[in-house]
Amino acid sequence: MTDYKNWTEAQWREKLTPEEFYVLREAGTEPPGVGEYTNTTTEGVYHCRACGEELFRSTEKFESHCGWPSFFSPADSDKVIEREDRSHGMVRTEVLCATCGSHLGHVFAGEGYNTPTDLRYCINSVSMTLEPKQ
Ligand SMILES: [Zn+2]
Repeated sequence: MTDYKNWTEAQWREKLTPEEFYVLREAGTEPPGVGEYTNTTTEGVYHCRACGEELFRSTEKFESHCGWPSFFSPADSDKVIEREDRSHGMVRTEVLCATCGSHLGHVFAGEGYNTPTDLRYCINSVSMTLEPKQ
């Protein structure tokens, strides 16, 4: 099994496009409303675009109208890591892939969305690959 946590920057640059590298490895954010999965309602599983691990499912995706794909829960809480992010003068909770350490997006709590958790995992489309249900 590949241990992605030990991958060098050069290895990631070879595997990922510049846009993917910027978001996944440099914690960038894609512009709102342009991501390929923002309004996707296709049933399926979202995998980490860096390592291929299953991260989110369409059954937990909801319409947040925030401009990015939003989920109220990860497929499995062990698949993501959450850590405090104090960049840009804000205190946010960053969401990373537990398998490869790549940046996925942020999670926001208590915004009043009518979902089972009232959490919004705000994830960059470019961090994920959707595998449609067969
Ligand atoms: Zn990953």
